[in-house]
Amino acid sequence: HKRYQNGGWAREVTQEDFEISETISGVNMRLAANGIREMHWHQQAEWAIMLDGKCRITILDELGRPQVADVKTGDLWYFPPGLPHSLQGLGPDGAEFLLAFDNGRASEFNTLLLTDWVAHTPPDILAANFGVSADAFKNIPLDNLWIFQGDDPGPLAAAQRASQSSLGAPEHPFIFSLGEMKPIKQDRGGTVQIADSRNFPASTTVAAALVTLKPGGLRELHWHPNADEWQYYIAGQGRMTVFDTGPKAQTADFRAGDVGYVKKSLGHYVQNTGNTDLVFLEIFKSDRFAEVSLSDWLKHTPPQLVKAHLGI
Ligand code: MN
Ligand code: MN
Repeated sequence: HKRYQNGGWAREVTQEDFEISETISGVNMRLAANGIREMHWHQQAEWAIMLDGKCRITILDELGRPQVADVKTGDLWYFPPGLPHSLQGLGPDGAEFLLAFDNGRASEFNTLLLTDWVAHTPPDILAANFGVSADAFKNIPLDNLWIFQGDDPGPLAAAQRASQSSLGAPEHPFIFSLGEMKPIKQDRGGTVQIADSRNFPASTTVAAALVTLKPGGLRELHWHPNADEWQYYIAGQGRMTVFDTGPKAQTADFRAGDVGYVKKSLGHYVQNTGNTDLVFLEIFKSDRFAEVSLSDWLKHTPPQLVKAHLGI
């Protein structure tokens, strides 16, 4: 289901619909050119990857230092819990992106909104707070805006100048170009690009891998010892089998727009079952990406011991 408003739309998957997903909830949002996701904040961290177009982000850190930046397809942002921010699609085509909150219960439809707070504060308090007359607030919206159509925000440099602070910029940028980074792993089957707090220092609670598998490619048998994996399939089609104690195993097919989930340390692999590249995200509530590879384990165990188990 998409929630449509003038200026854009969003749909989300929280634990309400997807019970297994304790650590992450996800939102797919599209903003029209100049469409604005209202100034707001929330208790969870917000991680995002740009899927299409261009977007302008604004954020203020807890020391009063602002960042205003433009992001493009393949770029990430990370907004720490509680820091206020906004998003605006840029011309000509606006922006589409995936958001991940580091809490499976978090909802994009239930955030702390600038308009809601101002509308639910007495005008005399607003007047005293901002040192102006109460009249200044006579035209505020009484219902929140959430997503709405805005005007062209103008050049980035002018927007940065207009919002700058004498305190300077945040210590670590809240954006990162994942799409442009050199893959951590690359072979004929595909590539894996990883962003976590080691190369994207602001991202202290979310680690992510962007996986591209060529037709016939396989994301090797492995598991993650430190966190559950929340998956979002961006393009193509694939098949995953997850191995659990019991023994139990479950196999499912995925295509663009699907969400998957693998509990911490359960074994899994993903194969590309289509004729085009399979592109998907592995997202973890953690400060770092961690993986144990089955082939590494067998390779770095005395061969006699492996042979005693598998007869190979
Ligand atoms: Mn947000
Ligand atoms: Mn994995």
